Amino acid sequence: MDADRFSLSQEYACALLTIDLDAICANWRLLGERVRPGACGAVVKANAYGLGAAPVARALYRAGCREFFVAQVEEGVHLRSVLPSSALVYVLQGCLPGGEQACLEHDLIPVLNSLDQVERWQSLARRRQRVLDAALQFDTGMARLGLSPADADRLEAEPERLHSLRISLVLSHLVAAEVAEDPVNLLQLERFRMLRAKWPHGRASLANSSGIFLDQAFHFDLARPGAALYGVAPKPGVNPLRPVVRLQGRLIQWREIEAGTGVGYNHTWRATRRARIATVAVGYADGYLRSASNRARLRFQGTEVPLIGRVSMDTVTVDASDIPAAALTPGALFDVLDSAQDINALAAQAGTNAYEILTSLGDRFQRRYLSKPQLSDI
Ligand SMILES: *Cc1c(COP(=O)(O)O)cnc(C)c1O
Repeated sequence: MDADRFSLSQEYACALLTIDLDAICANWRLLGERVRPGACGAVVKANAYGLGAAPVARALYRAGCREFFVAQVEEGVHLRSVLPSSALVYVLQGCLPGGEQACLEHDLIPVLNSLDQVERWQSLARRRQRVLDAALQFDTGMARLGLSPADADRLEAEPERLHSLRISLVLSHLVAAEVAEDPVNLLQLERFRMLRAKWPHGRASLANSSGIFLDQAFHFDLARPGAALYGVAPKPGVNPLRPVVRLQGRLIQWREIEAGTGVGYNHTWRATRRARIATVAVGYADGYLRSASNRARLRFQGTEVPLIGRVSMDTVTVDASDIPAAALTPGALFDVLDSAQDINALAAQAGTNAYEILTSLGDRFQRRYLSKPQLSDI
């Protein structure tokens, strides 16, 4: 995933994506302070929510994180190759048929979500005459992944189904942790407690990022934050986390237009006065969602400039009338995402959540990773 599709020199790149690894580690520590010592893992699925699984996981490992979660076996294979062997790597979706071998070879711990997954992992353990680690995920309300209540009863009634397996983690996933008052949270907590009591030997894990901000009864032995590490607000309007990404797009050209002139596809914006329109090289192919058309803002050296017209595939247009023409030199950088307008604000403008903003970020950017030794360089 890290291999550049083409190698972009910083000088010519149309957009720069700066990822602050120190901020990710600071966020991980802040989350860790809310749970018991040693009880904070990190979810780095989907290429660490688009930010780069290898640099992110390595930085978190250096910060002390030892438990990592990915969604798929392939992601785990990649992660294992960049992390020391003392890191535990859990695969949330478990293995599809045929994936067990890779899981074992690469020292990944599958999260078993169905009796079928349990059976296949056990059968590998038996063939190898080994005891294999596994996690069990129970469905307590998501109806997405995990063993059903009936499956749990089967496992309890037929404990031989788990012979040759060491259940090192029991987990479930919250439906609406960001809405503290949603009664589904307590319902899931109750169900999880009962299930957990049946398999008391491994550790227990329920909280995602937002779950860490619920009562400590939700914390158990291991939290699984993803989004919050990357600066996503854990509750609407509440965000103690540091912003992690800065996205800057370059000015390609600008023009003066007369009042009445339409801009962009279908002329969804029309000038009401003479205006200076700047075209910036970030578009929906880069993850700047089209639903932000006529809604979002960019910034130029601290001054807000409204995005006007439709977001195109490779460009956006902004009303730069407040920016002196002399400052608008080709290649000048506009802030698309920064600490003043972060992923949470853009998500609100685009009518989605910050998870989608992050994971949509494309691969046409020059990516830069900040960590302490390099901070002095900027
Ligand atoms: C994605 C995921 C997480 C992380 O959730 P965030 O809301 O990003 O913190 C935790 N657990 C499971 C099972 C997940 O799929």
